[in-house]
Amino acid sequence: MHLRANVSSDPHPSTAQLAPFAAPYAADPVLQDFLHRTADLLCSWIGSAHQHSPLPLMRPQPTIAPGTETADIDALLNDLQVVMDGAFQPSHPGSLAHLDPPPLTASIAAELVCAGLNNNLLADELSPGLSSLEHELCRWFCQRLGLPNGSGGVLASGGTLSNLMGLVTARTFGVGGNNGVILCSNDAHVSLVKAVRVMGLSDDALQFLPTDSEGRLCLSAVEQRLSQLRRLNRPCLAIVATAGTTVRGAIDLLPQLANLCRGAGIWLHVDAAIGGVFALSAAHAPLMRGLEQADSITLNPQKLLGITKASSLLLLRQHHQLRATFGTGLPYMENSTTGYHGGEVGLQGTRPAEVLKLWLGLRQLGEAGLETVLSSALKRREIFANQLDSDRLRLLPGALHLQAFHPIKGDPQSCEAWSQQTRQQLLSAGYMLSRPFYGDRFCLKGVFGNPHTTPDHLTDLAQRINASVF
Ligand SMILES: *Cc1c(COP(=O)(O)O)cnc(C)c1O
Repeated sequence: MHLRANVSSDPHPSTAQLAPFAAPYAADPVLQDFLHRTADLLCSWIGSAHQHSPLPLMRPQPTIAPGTETADIDALLNDLQVVMDGAFQPSHPGSLAHLDPPPLTASIAAELVCAGLNNNLLADELSPGLSSLEHELCRWFCQRLGLPNGSGGVLASGGTLSNLMGLVTARTFGVGGNNGVILCSNDAHVSLVKAVRVMGLSDDALQFLPTDSEGRLCLSAVEQRLSQLRRLNRPCLAIVATAGTTVRGAIDLLPQLANLCRGAGIWLHVDAAIGGVFALSAAHAPLMRGLEQADSITLNPQKLLGITKASSLLLLRQHHQLRATFGTGLPYMENSTTGYHGGEVGLQGTRPAEVLKLWLGLRQLGEAGLETVLSSALKRREIFANQLDSDRLRLLPGALHLQAFHPIKGDPQSCEAWSQQTRQQLLSAGYMLSRPFYGDRFCLKGVFGNPHTTPDHLTDLAQRINASVF
């Protein structure tokens, strides 16, 4: 049924007058013009990536305050251009610093539609189709990962939130409450520090344990700490295993940790923000063995698959636990058809349908595309690492598409100088690496999730790095 509001006697008011809002009676020519020209601008920005540095040399300053009159499209496109000129460029073939790959084209298009729909995942009646899309896609993820019936999840604007929600759920259903201790490795993500602060736990609630030579949480250290805690009568709220650490891409020993947790009745949260996507492919799933035994899992499709930010999921072995933890009732909303609202299974209230760009991105990739993204990232790291001079560089082993390294010779001070100079030299040559502090010194790190990086780039990069070593 098409209702036309009585208040509008003129179905075609002047478009200029209505420009800020698209007309609801016919395709709005002003919006069409705006979108077409914005698309041209964006495509030019991405298409000229290789001519610039991954990091812009200048940061042009946009005008901050709104003008006095309604702005026209030309003025707004100029504004956008200024911001784009100062933006980091993930599509540059030398963008290799972080877990921030180029965006998938379907994900860009879906983001645009998401804005146009302007639905709200808070409540069913504000996002009827998209709420169930999120619900079903989370279930698809759970099935792929091998979680049992009854599992499910929720999307979150980043892994920091997913980890927080996972640990809050652990506190609701695990043991120890506010007196509980959370164990993780020294290489676990900083977002856990935020989580315990937000949760109001005591300063020693998050305890970091050593890693083995491969960068994995040391099992004997876990066992030792658990028996210490028992002696102190201090409950263990959760063990956080990391599947893909941020500096090395190491994967903690998930099957062993799962066994240990099950035996001791401890909640296992797996921070698989980086590595979780590998469990989606049959070829790579063995890397993530044991993930299916977790009580909760964080997984960030934004980090390798090219889903536009933010895209993170929190998956629960028992989905009802989310509702029990975050449910409040929404007395100002109609009842939901699925039994709960999107705002009752997580921390966020109003939130965009981030599911759209994830779903469409996966639809675009297909099984074959997914496989290619994962395999080629691992392959690029292998090609790169094999060409580094291992007589003079120490390569930190890991299991995924990340490679950190530093000179074998020298002390932390000389290492810091080397990392600074080399990062700068590489940037001038069009390669952006990161400079994490790891152990007692700075390293350089490459993340090889960028599909535009060719074997020639990798050879050139490795040669430049070899030449930089004192
Ligand atoms: C990136 C990352 C996170 C946090 O994710 P955000 O999306 O940046 O909030 C958590 N854990 C690990 C291991 C990560 O690499």
